[in-house]
Amino acid sequence: MTILYTAQWVLPVSAPPIQDGAVAVRDGRILAVGPEAEARARLARFGALETVALGRAAICPGLVNAHTHLELTAFRGRLEGHSFFDWIRTLTRLREERMDADDLDVSAQWGAVEAARAGITTLADTEVSGAGFRALCQSGLRGIAHQEVFGPDPMQAKKSLFGLKRRVETLRRSETELVRLGVSPHAVYSVSALLFRLVIEYAERYDLPVAIHCAESQAEDDFLRSGQGPFAELLRQRGIAWSPPRVSAIRYLSDLNALRVKPLLIHAVRATEEDIGLLTFHGARVAHCPKSNAKFGHGIAPVSQMRQRGARVGLGTDSVASNNVCDLLDEGRFAQLVSRAARGDDRLAPAAALLQWMTLDGASALGLDDRIGTLEVGKEADLIGISLAGPHLEPVYDPVATVVTAATGRDVILTVVKGRVIYDGARVLTLDEERLRERLRSLAGRLSFPVAEGA
Ligand SMILES: [Zn+2]
Repeated sequence: MTILYTAQWVLPVSAPPIQDGAVAVRDGRILAVGPEAEARARLARFGALETVALGRAAICPGLVNAHTHLELTAFRGRLEGHSFFDWIRTLTRLREERMDADDLDVSAQWGAVEAARAGITTLADTEVSGAGFRALCQSGLRGIAHQEVFGPDPMQAKKSLFGLKRRVETLRRSETELVRLGVSPHAVYSVSALLFRLVIEYAERYDLPVAIHCAESQAEDDFLRSGQGPFAELLRQRGIAWSPPRVSAIRYLSDLNALRVKPLLIHAVRATEEDIGLLTFHGARVAHCPKSNAKFGHGIAPVSQMRQRGARVGLGTDSVASNNVCDLLDEGRFAQLVSRAARGDDRLAPAAALLQWMTLDGASALGLDDRIGTLEVGKEADLIGISLAGPHLEPVYDPVATVVTAATGRDVILTVVKGRVIYDGARVLTLDEERLRERLRSLAGRLSFPVAEGA
């Protein structure tokens, strides 16, 4: 069966907007894109057509979220007012002490519900539990589930690698065409140089995508450049020797030869000119999470310079524990506004470039741009419908500008991944939203108690 999605506007990203447009989908692929009348005429030979008419709406490629932590969704609003270091410590303790495997699954699935309802069709997730991987598979969304590994003590590196391998090998049996596994040595302050080397070798051998939190905070910089600050202090308390390399995080990763696998560098807020040269030279990708960076006061990543130099930069929301919403339309707008404010340049990320950033450029940062990211014949059918009927969206002069400057995830009325309807404007069809909502609320009850100091 061929399905014809029609709307007042189709925004293919790879071509100018089409008024009274249509996208035909068959067997998970895009069969035709164009004005509705033309598409119908061209499709006559394919027999029966089912039409889904969205009316006053825009059909766009699915949004690509280059950095999430689905398993942390239950922490939305729970960690307000903590400094970055305390935030990480409290989050880790709550996750370890108060959440079992089922809780993590509920949390990640609720994150998938939120993403699907916001028109996000692809996510690059980072996690410790496998819950994000399972949530992606169950929800029908597309993604990469990077399995995190921690271990600042080089004596423990082999043991940490062993644990990671076991986790990856178990989950890998359930990989699908849509959901792949990756690995993530967490960050330079939580992973020893030896563990970095071992994980990178492992990823290279098994062709696993790699993501690394990097160049995010002043505390991380202090750790690397002077061996001072809370991360260094934590290592001292644990009796782990640390001699700072006195270089930036990206330079450190380059010196470890970790950039050879073209990792997805999450944040890169503090990237210098030299760092940008290194990451573009090696073909590393960047996940830009401007709201999370702003919330922690970490600053604004120099992404316009990175993009000008040809780096592949996707937009990420980061976890809702720091954002607090998984809404890529909101994130893209914020990215545009803060980069303009910071650089005093009102030409940065104009509307069409911003829509491309949320879709094709994100796909490119994840190595998926040959399959998704635009509405083009032959590509896999990841598409969304955004209503243009809300009072905050009227009137519409330029549909691309309306979508990127005024719409939010809450205006999404359809989410389709590889031809399968995941969200139909009323509910997410692949997960039991009501059951999840109840379980999430009871979990929040358990997470709400304060964490005991010390220990
Ligand atoms: Zn993160």
